[in-house]
Amino acid sequence: MKQICSVLCAIFLLSQTFAQELSFYPTNWWVGMKNPKLQIMVHGKDVGKSTVSIAKYQGITLQKITKAENPNYIFLDLLISANTKPGKLAIQFKQGTKLVKSDYLLKVRQEGKGRTYAQGVTSSDLIYLLMPDRFSNGDPSNDRIPGLKDQSLNRDSIFNRHGGDIKGIINHLDYLQDLGATTVWMTPVLENDMPDRTEHGYAITDHYKVDPRLGTNEDYIALGNALHKRGMKLIQDAVYNHCGLYHFFVQDKPMKDWLHEWPTYTGTNYKDQALFDPYAAKTDKQKMVDGWFTPMMPDLNQNNPFVANFLIQNAIWSVETFRVDGWRIDTYIYNDLAFMNRCNKALLEEYPRISLFGETWVHGVPNQSFFCENTMKLSFNSNLPATTDFQLLFYGIQESLAKPFGWTDGVNKLYTTTAQDFLYKNPMREVIFLSNHDLPRFYSVLNEDTAKYKVALSWLLTFRGVPQLYYGDENLMTGFTNPDGRVRLDFKGGWVGDTVNKFTAGGRTQKENAIFNHIRNLAQFRKTSTAIKTGKMMQFAPEEGVYVYFRYDQLQTVMCIMNTNNTEKDIDLSRFRERLNKFKTASDIPTGKNFQLGKSLHLSPMNMLVLNLR
Ligand code: CA
Repeated sequence: MKQICSVLCAIFLLSQTFAQELSFYPTNWWVGMKNPKLQIMVHGKDVGKSTVSIAKYQGITLQKITKAENPNYIFLDLLISANTKPGKLAIQFKQGTKLVKSDYLLKVRQEGKGRTYAQGVTSSDLIYLLMPDRFSNGDPSNDRIPGLKDQSLNRDSIFNRHGGDIKGIINHLDYLQDLGATTVWMTPVLENDMPDRTEHGYAITDHYKVDPRLGTNEDYIALGNALHKRGMKLIQDAVYNHCGLYHFFVQDKPMKDWLHEWPTYTGTNYKDQALFDPYAAKTDKQKMVDGWFTPMMPDLNQNNPFVANFLIQNAIWSVETFRVDGWRIDTYIYNDLAFMNRCNKALLEEYPRISLFGETWVHGVPNQSFFCENTMKLSFNSNLPATTDFQLLFYGIQESLAKPFGWTDGVNKLYTTTAQDFLYKNPMREVIFLSNHDLPRFYSVLNEDTAKYKVALSWLLTFRGVPQLYYGDENLMTGFTNPDGRVRLDFKGGWVGDTVNKFTAGGRTQKENAIFNHIRNLAQFRKTSTAIKTGKMMQFAPEEGVYVYFRYDQLQTVMCIMNTNNTEKDIDLSRFRERLNKFKTASDIPTGKNFQLGKSLHLSPMNMLVLNLR
């Protein structure tokens, strides 16, 4: 009865009010957070012209009210003391005789002390990156949503919507677990109400709502729950640098300096060098950080404290709501780095175990390590725990397999780049990969040479760091970028009516099954291998195109031997005595073949042994 009354009252009040509809960001909050502060952004027609009050609520103090330059916004700073009870804050907005009442929800944090999220994604995990629009369509009824700007639905075009969604991912968790993946990372799932190219998700238009073509907030929560039930984990792809042009706070800016705006359109120069170069021009630095990523993606002014609060609180809200374990930060190097340090710190203070890693598409280990915790003494020190390791891809494994061996070439590049790990505070946290949604498929880079590809996969699953697969790596999906849509093709079998189904062994070709099984053998092995999950690494200088590294701890030693020659090789094992000492036999994980460890070892052409030593 009381509820009916309040609904009727609200309707009555709304009918004569200044603000037809008020939106609150964050959309809710929790009691019992470590940081007692909360800044609520209220958006609605002329809401800034009203007098705001909050009904007495034990533990809540309204500390400050900030009216923005735009009367459609008002910011409320609250203090939530430690023992505040969950409930509804009754907030009143008054203009003359007109009154709007809103309830703001303060929830209980999920699962209390036994919470199973924000647990961190580590070198013990195997990440599977996918694009939800392109993986599997579990709910054809949400393929096209009336009212959204992008009404495309055409699987023949790489730039249109294809209909994949979160339900489709939930339907294939058995498949992912069987492959050996422990963690799902999706390209961003929040609303992208943009006119076109919405498949990638990096142009967010609502930070508090899952894109309805992918599902609901509840579907996303269900995915996290389903993963956790299996002992698996969830990574969210976060975008702080920019948002979509059709975001409400771009179309209706709260303040003049909400965005970085230029007299004429100015894109970023994509020059990370300008951020640490001792000779850098100031204009280059400013363009790098304040230039727009694309004309459709405005650059957010993270120096505006209200923008900063919005982004930081949204990150915390997302982890708490969606039960996220790992946090991948898009276009990390284009953000204001001091802001990023504050943002990382806020997340880590609330969730000490969560893992954070930033996208650093740069060239050079010094460049990359500049953006994360490193061993250098610089005027700026990043507190980001890890990055996406583009260096081991571009200047490591790719060179090893695509270029002939030489004093500084071929697999010597991998050796050299790895030696530069002394620049990272903890290289074991770096995320390593062969492909992603922006890069050519590695199988294509290797001219579809399956022998080389197997070596690359063996490397990925045994080297230092957190390995990441890209969907389709396991069934030989091909494609080069330019345009990037060519590496974002559908996973065959993910749609009802697909003529082949790559989710099943019967739907894969013999060649594809060989790769799938190769990954699975190594991925399942690494689940139980302490040496690979948490062990140390030792590498030996490559000789004649053969590179040897060990992963080891007190319990186990794994010897990885990469022969990058297209010819057979015999190697003298005495050179590796330092680690081989007591071991007599070994079994090769991908093939199950057993070896006696005598004076020498015979290697097949273009092959990698992953030897579990006994
Ligand atoms: Ca769908």
